[in-house]
Amino acid sequence: MPMHTLAQLPGWFTSLVIALTGLAVGSFINVIIYRVPRQMSIVTPGSRCPFCHTPLSIRDLIPVISFLLLRGRCRSCRHRIPFRYPVVECLVGFLFWIVWQKDGLSWSLPQDWAFVSAMVALGAIDLEHRLLPDVITYPGFVLAVGLPVLLERRAPFHWPGLESGWVVDLTWGFIALSGVVIIAVEWLDYLFIGRHLEAQQASEHPLDAPMTAEGESGHRAVLLLRPRLTLSTIALGIALAGLLWVKKAAGVDEAGIRQAEAVVDAFLGAAFGGGLLWVLRFAYFRLKHIEAAGFGDIKMMMMVGAYLGWSQTLVTLIIASAFASVIGLILILRHRDRHIKIPYGIFLAAAAILTLIIDAPGVARSSGL
Ligand SMILES: [Zn+2]
Repeated sequence: MPMHTLAQLPGWFTSLVIALTGLAVGSFINVIIYRVPRQMSIVTPGSRCPFCHTPLSIRDLIPVISFLLLRGRCRSCRHRIPFRYPVVECLVGFLFWIVWQKDGLSWSLPQDWAFVSAMVALGAIDLEHRLLPDVITYPGFVLAVGLPVLLERRAPFHWPGLESGWVVDLTWGFIALSGVVIIAVEWLDYLFIGRHLEAQQASEHPLDAPMTAEGESGHRAVLLLRPRLTLSTIALGIALAGLLWVKKAAGVDEAGIRQAEAVVDAFLGAAFGGGLLWVLRFAYFRLKHIEAAGFGDIKMMMMVGAYLGWSQTLVTLIIASAFASVIGLILILRHRDRHIKIPYGIFLAAAAILTLIIDAPGVARSSGL
């Protein structure tokens, strides 16, 4: 359907279609939330009951409706279906509608939809598994750096004195490097903190030593034996850079410079978001010898920072800290345990979505503050 036809449809009808699209995507996000941390394929096999493994038919796959009709239980084994399924579907449906209200029909819409979907998936996986999978944060970071070049999305901070020629060259390099950057960051973290944490754990739990030794080789193996994820992430960066090169070959205009500035902004956002958490992590480790912020949180903030830009990233971190303090305090009071561990990723996800939504279109971003 051509775009202008969609814009002429009655408002309630468009809203309904958008919300239903969100519900369907939410249903797919549920698949990601269940399968990615278990390292299962998200394509095959088809959806099945997680308890009795009976394949689900079409009538069991309708978002929310199926859950209500089945009264929250599997048709075959009557096992209770986690409440997360309808909650995630409704949440994504609602977020799709809200983002639609904000963006309208623009290139921002599909990108913001993908971003809020990724945040819901990361938040839910972190809540359940205390894990923020690289499969989402690596490509998410590279896409967040490279997409502003291909699709007009936001007006970045205007850096005075940047001449068109080298800004575009620099941008090309930034995008091509983005895959390499995240892997370099991973190694640096391992050399500065990860190695020491492993040694510390080994000395504190000598009985676990064989397991820790395996963990150490496991960590190295994670980097070296995940070539598919690593290489595909780098390839994605190079592909996006190639597309920029094609655009550049066609001639640099005003829009080209703006997009180049958006990429510089994305890198600054990533360095700011990820960097701030990493410095915190480093300081805590040096001073108190504990792991304060997980490395997954840092990679997630690199993705969020690249997508939102540095100023919105600061807002995200402030909101996330406020959420985490309030919820953390409630949990400490309820459990009477000061050392309770809370998954920070869910607060970062909620704060990033909120920051994206409350941002008045074109105002905050074009001013850069
Ligand atoms: Zn079942």
